[in-house]
Amino acid sequence: MANVLFTNVRLLDGSGGPAYAGEVLVQGNRIARLARGNRALPPTGVTVVDGAGATLMPGMVEAHTHFSWNDQPGLGEIQRMPTEEHILWCAHIARRYLDMGWTSCIGAAPATPRLDVVIRNAIDSGLIAGPRYLAASQEITVPGGLGDETLPHLPFPEFSFGAIVNGPEEMRRTVRMFLKYGVDTIKLNLSGEYIAGIPAELTPMSDGEIAMAVTEAHRRGKRVAAHARSAESVKQCVRHGIEIIFHASFADEEALDMLEAVKDKHFVAPGIAWLINTARYAEQWGIKPGSPLSLEYERELEMCIDTMKKMHRRGIRVCIGGDYGFAWTPQGTNAKDIQTFVEMLGFSPMEAIQAGTKYGGQIMGMGDELGLIKEGYLADILLIDGDPISDVRILQDKNRILAIMKDGKFHKAPRMNEARRRLTA
Ligand SMILES: [Zn+2]
Repeated sequence: MANVLFTNVRLLDGSGGPAYAGEVLVQGNRIARLARGNRALPPTGVTVVDGAGATLMPGMVEAHTHFSWNDQPGLGEIQRMPTEEHILWCAHIARRYLDMGWTSCIGAAPATPRLDVVIRNAIDSGLIAGPRYLAASQEITVPGGLGDETLPHLPFPEFSFGAIVNGPEEMRRTVRMFLKYGVDTIKLNLSGEYIAGIPAELTPMSDGEIAMAVTEAHRRGKRVAAHARSAESVKQCVRHGIEIIFHASFADEEALDMLEAVKDKHFVAPGIAWLINTARYAEQWGIKPGSPLSLEYERELEMCIDTMKKMHRRGIRVCIGGDYGFAWTPQGTNAKDIQTFVEMLGFSPMEAIQAGTKYGGQIMGMGDELGLIKEGYLADILLIDGDPISDVRILQDKNRILAIMKDGKFHKAPRMNEARRRLTA
C-alpha cells in the first residue's frame, strides 16, 4: 500500500482543540506522524497530496444505521422487498454512506436475519465498497411489541421486521441463533413507536427476557443495543448493562441520574432526524403536519430536545445519526444531524463534530484507534473543502468532500493538479 503524505492541510483532529496548519503521514492503514506547519515531514517515498488549505478531519461515524431501509414510505415496503433485491440495495447503500464521508456505521437491525452480516462480510472482504460496519441482529421484540406485524388471521412472521420471542427461553434461542450467524450486536425493542401504532412510552419487554438476552450476548463478548424511547426502557438499559441506547427521548430525571452514574459504559443515539422529518416533512406521504400522528412526533421531539440538552450537560455521550432510510429521511443525508445538534441541542460545532467522530470511534468499540487524527490511529480521513467549524452544513455536501480515505486506502482520491502530485522514491 502506498504511503501518503497530506501537506498544506488544516488539521481538525477531533480532540476538541482548534484546527491548525499541518501535515499528516499515513503509512499502510495507520496515521504514522503528525506535524505542525509546512514542509515538516520528509516527502520521500510517499505520494504527496497537497491539500491546498483544505480541512483534514476524521471519517464520520453513523451510530444507528439501517442499510436495508429502502427510502420507502413504510415498514411494509421494506419488509416486502425480496431478499435478492434487498442484498443489492444494501450494497448500493453501503457505498452511498462511504461516498458521503461515513467511514464507520453501527448497524441498528436489518429487515431479514442475515442481511447485516452478509453486507459486513462483503465489505470486509473487499467484495463491495462500504464503511466499517458492525452487523446487528434483527430487532428482537415480544408479541404486541414494536416489530410484531402479525395479524390474528395472518400469523406469518415474515411480514414482521422484528423477530418475535415470548419468554426468556425463546429469547435465549433467538439470541443464540443471531450470534451463530455472526452479528456484532443484539438489538432489542424495549419501547413502542407511534408510527407502528404502539405508544413510544410503552415498555413491553420483561426484565427476565432482557436479562436473558444480555447474558447470552455478553457470554459471547457481544454488545446489546436497544430501541428505548420510554423512561422505563432507558432504565432497563442501565440496569441490564445495554451499551447502546437508541432514542431515549422520554428519559426522566431518575433515568438521567442512573445513566450519568455509569456514563462511561453507555452511548445514546437519539436519531433526531426521524422525529423532525416525521412530524414536519412527511405530508407528501400522508403524515400531515397537525395530524394526530404528527403531533405525537412533535411532542416527542420537544421531549427529545430537552432530554438531549440535559444529557449533553451531564457529559453523557450523545452520538450522531439514526434511522435514515425512509422516504422522508433518505439514506445519505445523515450529516444533517450535525447541523441539528448545533441548532437544536446546544452543541458547539466542535462538539457536534466530535459526537460524530471521537464518540464515533468509541461507540464502534475502537476508541483507542478510531475517531481521531492521531499518531497510531487507523487512517479513516476526510479532506473537506472549507471549514466545517464555521459552517457544519458543508459536511452534507458530497462535492465539498474532496477525498475519502478508509483504512489507509482512498475510496475517493483527491482530484489534483498533476503538477502538485509527485511521487518521489
Ligand atoms: Zn432504528
